[in-house]
Amino acid sequence: MSPVPRVLVPAAIAPTPPALGGCIHDFAGASMGTTWRVRLVAGSTLRREPVRQAIQGALDEVVAQMSTWDAASDLARYNRAPAGTRHVLPEHFDAVLACAREVAERSGGAFDPTAGALVDAWGFGPVPRRGIPAPTALAEARGRAGWRRLDIEPGGRALLQPGGLALDLSAIAKGFGVDLVARRLDALGIADHLVEVGGELRGTGVKPDGQPWWVALEQPDDDAGGRQTLLALHGLSVATSGDYRRWFEHAGTRYSHTIDPRDGLPIRHGLASVTVIHADCMRADAWSTALNVLGPDAGLALANRLGLAARLLVRAGDGLAERRSLAFDALLR
Ligand code: AMP
Ligand code: MG
Repeated sequence: MSPVPRVLVPAAIAPTPPALGGCIHDFAGASMGTTWRVRLVAGSTLRREPVRQAIQGALDEVVAQMSTWDAASDLARYNRAPAGTRHVLPEHFDAVLACAREVAERSGGAFDPTAGALVDAWGFGPVPRRGIPAPTALAEARGRAGWRRLDIEPGGRALLQPGGLALDLSAIAKGFGVDLVARRLDALGIADHLVEVGGELRGTGVKPDGQPWWVALEQPDDDAGGRQTLLALHGLSVATSGDYRRWFEHAGTRYSHTIDPRDGLPIRHGLASVTVIHADCMRADAWSTALNVLGPDAGLALANRLGLAARLLVRAGDGLAERRSLAFDALLR
C-alpha cells in the first residue's frame, strides 16, 4: 500500500469553495531552456491564440531582458560592456535585480546575482565545459563577482558596469516569469490559473469544481519510498533548487551547478533539494537557491528567522531526511 499523502493547505481557504463553472484549458510551450505549462479556467468558447500569445510574449520579454544564454539580451550586453559605462535597465530586469540584491543581502551573500563569472568557470554557463577550473581561472572569476559591486544610480535605473561584473539571474528569473505570466492572465480577466515554468509554480483561484490547484511536491528520484506531499496552491507559489537536476561528476565527487559565492566552489554539503513556498514565485525561486547554498543547518535557521516556508531534503546514507521550517509546518495538516 502506498503511504497516505501529506496535505498542505493555506489556512485562508474554505475547504470546498462553491463550484464556478467553466472548463480547464491547457497550454504548453518552451522558454528559458525549459518547458512551460499553464492551466486556466474559462468558458468553452475561449479564443486560445491571444491567450497563448500573452503567455509566450511575457516569457519572451524575460528572456530578451535577462537571459545569459541569449547574447542579444540586455543582461548579456551589460556583462560585455566596458568598465565605467552605465546601463538603464528595462522594467523587469530592474525589478528582478532589486529583489536579487535584497536576497543577497539577507542571505549574507549566499545568493549572489553577480556570480556569472563563477558559474561560467565551473562550466554551468552558456559555454559548456567540464571539469575543475584551474586555480588562476577560479581566482579571476572570484575577483569579478560580488553583489556589493552593484552600483545603481540613486533614484534611477542606471546600473554601472564597474568592469568584468557578470550578472546571472538564472536562479530567480524563472520565478519572475511565472509571476509575470500570472499577472498577464489576470489582466485578461482570467482569474483562476496554474502557471508552471521549469518546475516553478504559482496557483491563483480555484478549478471549476471549486477545489484549489493541487500539486505534488517534487521528490528526487532516489526517494522512491518517500511520502508524497500535496500542496494547495491557492494564492501561493512553490520553487525548488536541487543538485539532482544539474551536476557533473569528477573523481567520484558530485559537483552542483549552484555555487557558494563566498568561496567560489560548488556547494558540497548534503542537501538534495530545497523547496520554498511563498506568495511570489520570484521570491520562492531566489530563496530556494539561497537556502540551498546555506545548507541544511544555516539554511533552516535562516528560514526560521525570516519566517520562510521551506522544506530541505538532506542526503542521509542511501535515503533522504526531511527538514521543515516552522512556517512550512504551519501549512501542514
Ligand atoms: P536554481 O535552479 O534556481 O537554484 O538556480 C541555479 C542557477 O543559478 C545556476 O545554474 C546558476 O546559473 C545560478 N547560480 C548558481 N549559484 C548561484 C548563487 N549562489 N546565487 C545566485 N545564482 C546562482
Ligand atoms: Mg532558484
